[in-house]
Amino acid sequence: MTTFSNQQEGQLYMDPSETLSDVSQSETTNIQNSRTIVVTSGKGGVGKTTATANLGMSIARLGYRVALIDADIGLRNLDLLLGLENRILYTAMDILDGQCRLDQALIRDKRWKNLSLLSISKNRQRYNVTRKNMENLVKSIASLGYQFVLVDCPAGIDVGFINAISPAQEALIVTTPEITAIRDADRVAGLLEANGIYNVKLLVNRVRPDMIQRNDMMSVRDVQEMLGIPLLGAIPEDNHVIISTNRGEPLVLKKKLTLSGIAFENAARRLIGKQDYFIDLTTPYKGVFQKVQQIFFG
Ligand code: ADP
Ligand code: MG
Repeated sequence: MTTFSNQQEGQLYMDPSETLSDVSQSETTNIQNSRTIVVTSGKGGVGKTTATANLGMSIARLGYRVALIDADIGLRNLDLLLGLENRILYTAMDILDGQCRLDQALIRDKRWKNLSLLSISKNRQRYNVTRKNMENLVKSIASLGYQFVLVDCPAGIDVGFINAISPAQEALIVTTPEITAIRDADRVAGLLEANGIYNVKLLVNRVRPDMIQRNDMMSVRDVQEMLGIPLLGAIPEDNHVIISTNRGEPLVLKKKLTLSGIAFENAARRLIGKQDYFIDLTTPYKGVFQKVQQIFFG
């Protein structure tokens, strides 16, 4: 297997010095066909984990193989959002220590088997994953045939940010329409560029059309123009987000999608290039969404 070498029979560990020269043709093709996208923000608490879980689940439902990496150490809650918290036996730290294989640390979702989760570490103290480790880890996941690797990143100012972004070619910056969050998002955009990530998109979360209408909140268009980053999508403020977090059931799995669920699904389709601007017009929410769309975007 790519970038891992045998430590003992049946055990794999990451060897940072190893090159890709011994990689099989199919593994190389897998790696080339895979997209690694970091989900990050300047400010914390703006919705990175919520976005990673819902976009990942949506993309998996569209038939792709998706791996989610929880790299936001210490604020680890991607497992909770997916309802997988009791299933995590091993993390990437255990792979590095030679305690387990990659496939043992990749937890499959209960509902969608083509969605898997890898946690980097269970606790903040045990965090010494290097850039090279991250890169090797992602390459190995891609070589298994995962078409999308979404990395739930620490916020731009946190430790671990630079390491977490190193395997990615693409980034999604999450912000809320608040000036502090936007300013920090701008800094992160600069950091991403300085680290060679030029394919960056914007997700504006917790948008409140009622407040925008009263001129109490910046519109999504204003936010987008301030940052000058192409917009992937806008997600409304929605209490269902909190309910779904508590239940460990992503919004996009609900039979009757809420507006935020529709918005996430739309963003996911845009991310994979399956849809242009807005949601599938056949949805029963067409009227509602179009109205909101007008309020969002003017
Ligand atoms: P981060 O990963 O950036 O720290 P989270 O995804 O954990 O942020 O979200 C922070 C909090 O905000 C959580 O309690 C989450 O439920 C809530 N939240 C996120 N997005 C929304 C939304 N669109 N509507 C309502 N609450 C939200
Ligand atoms: Mg988080």
